[in-house]
Amino acid sequence: MAKQGNIQIASENMMPIIKKWLYSDKDIFLREIVANGVDAITKFKKLVDMGEAAASEGEYCVKISIDKKAKTLTVEDNGIGMTEEEVEKYITQIAFSGAADFLSKYEKAGGEGIIGHFGLGFYSAYMVSENIEIFTRSYREDAKGVHWESDGESTYTIEECDRSERGTKIVMHIVKEEKEFLEEGTIRGLVEKYCAFMPYNIYLNFTGKDDKALNNTSPLYLKNPKDCTEEEYKEFYRNTFHDYHEPLFWIHLNMDYPFRLKGILYFPKVKSKVELERGKVKLYCNQVFIADNIKEVIPEYLLLLNGVIDCPDIPLNVSRSFLQNDRQVQKISKHITKKVADKLTALYKNDREKYEKCWSDLSVFVKLGCLKDEEFYTRVKDIVIFKDLAGAYKNLEEFAGRKADADAPEAAKQEPEKEGGEKADPVTVYYASDEVGQAQYISMFKKAGLNAIVCDSFIDPHYISYIEFKESGKYKFLRIDADIDAALKEGGESEDTSALTEAFKKALKNTTIAVKAERFKNESVPAVINVSELSRRFGEMNAFYGLAGADADRDMTIVLNTANPVVAAFTGLSDEKKDFVANQIYYLAMLSYKKLAPEEMEAFSDNSVQLLKNYIG
Ligand code: ADP
Ligand code: MG
Repeated sequence: MAKQGNIQIASENMMPIIKKWLYSDKDIFLREIVANGVDAITKFKKLVDMGEAAASEGEYCVKISIDKKAKTLTVEDNGIGMTEEEVEKYITQIAFSGAADFLSKYEKAGGEGIIGHFGLGFYSAYMVSENIEIFTRSYREDAKGVHWESDGESTYTIEECDRSERGTKIVMHIVKEEKEFLEEGTIRGLVEKYCAFMPYNIYLNFTGKDDKALNNTSPLYLKNPKDCTEEEYKEFYRNTFHDYHEPLFWIHLNMDYPFRLKGILYFPKVKSKVELERGKVKLYCNQVFIADNIKEVIPEYLLLLNGVIDCPDIPLNVSRSFLQNDRQVQKISKHITKKVADKLTALYKNDREKYEKCWSDLSVFVKLGCLKDEEFYTRVKDIVIFKDLAGAYKNLEEFAGRKADADAPEAAKQEPEKEGGEKADPVTVYYASDEVGQAQYISMFKKAGLNAIVCDSFIDPHYISYIEFKESGKYKFLRIDADIDAALKEGGESEDTSALTEAFKKALKNTTIAVKAERFKNESVPAVINVSELSRRFGEMNAFYGLAGADADRDMTIVLNTANPVVAAFTGLSDEKKDFVANQIYYLAMLSYKKLAPEEMEAFSDNSVQLLKNYIG
């Protein structure tokens, strides 16, 4: 029969691994040691609640102190403490967690709030210490003080000592190379980062007079959303993100099922793409900071927000810096997406006015979310709204007059079908991307009783393409300067305009631009520039990727308005006048399309001065 045996781990081999490899970041040792103190207090309080220990006077807290001369960093708590036996069991047995032991012993007290789990945290302090001492006394009445000491190689000493107070004091003798951990500023920064929301007060260099805790023991996100005021949300935002611009809007997540998760996501005001990348979502587990921007838990587009999320059920690995169990993490992430979509929808339905007010800032996040996450798109597509030329906000269905009757049976909401089962033609949606620059087109549209939506953020071109693709064939987007809509033209007989366009082309001496003529309803404008939607988008795309062909104007057309008196008189002019007039019409049209090139601008102003001279005679 085969022999059986236990695999032996020699601790002198384990220690270098823990010190060097387990943690990605040295800083976290302070989080681990302070968290142990916090756990010790939580455990003691549970015992008091169960009547197994007598309540004590005085504040439950963790005190950190620095002794530069002795080169020590000390963390002291007034929690449960340890007996000699417990120190030997919990501290010296690596990977044997007293937390897990406590939980199994006191199952009925519940495990809420206990941070420890893996039984490795304590040893992280050896990343920065050459020697660590523990002074501790258990809560038990007959307990004696215990002093433990080890250099973290493989041996330790343990003896009885005088200690009158309940609780544990960890004295870390900091190695020379890590002396920054003896600086008050460094420690303050670390507590702010990792321990900001831990549940008991944490003091640095406690004096007993007017001490202020470094942490906020009851962060707002733990409160019931019903009990939070607007001012509290704003204050929490300021204190947590040090951003003095007010957030626009926030979502308070608070759920217990299917997992526990609490948090607040803030939508900041953003003006540019660069600002967008400043977002930060801090992930906590039982009020202990884990990391910023963990993209596995928080959907990518939500990382653009500022927020805190506390999820006690997050499956962390032993170093508490990485995640394990992808399925669980994915579920959490999906749930966050759903909650965010639900909250936005509720705002849209219940407070449309506020929704519209915030929309211009919200929209970037929502649209990015749609582009990145199909499920999110499906949930929010109907609450994506656009401003029209009259300044009213509508969703696409409302704008395109396709609004499905919400109460109609599902079948009736289907795409209207043409006879023969063909799909209906797409609805053309005109959009303006620059209300100032495209003012002339906009005014022509308005005069003709046409409407368009305003799509002026950097994300809109992408969003528009996405909808055309996603809603295959339902909508076709055309920029307001892409084509002269039939409604802008005068109906009736089509004129023969070839003489006009030929003459104009010859006079303009510009070989890259096509010339067309139409009779507009509106006679005031001599000509407009059109660039086909397709080639403009192609140019924009190339520009986006920094490719050649970014010049979108290769496919440009100048459309002359035969209703305009100057255009009508054009063919009858002398050659010299034709040159002058053609160029002036071209510059005017170009001006309302985009900026003129410097040499064009110069020629335009020379021409204009000439005109003024003639005018005054
Ligand atoms: P974990 O916290 O994951 O259990 P640690 O290595 O951080 O692992 O700590 C091991 C054990 O040592 C703890 O579970 C606890 O039983 C004991 N311990 C550590 N620090 C303290 C403390 N300040 N007070 C009481 N017990 C402590
Ligand atoms: Mg621990």
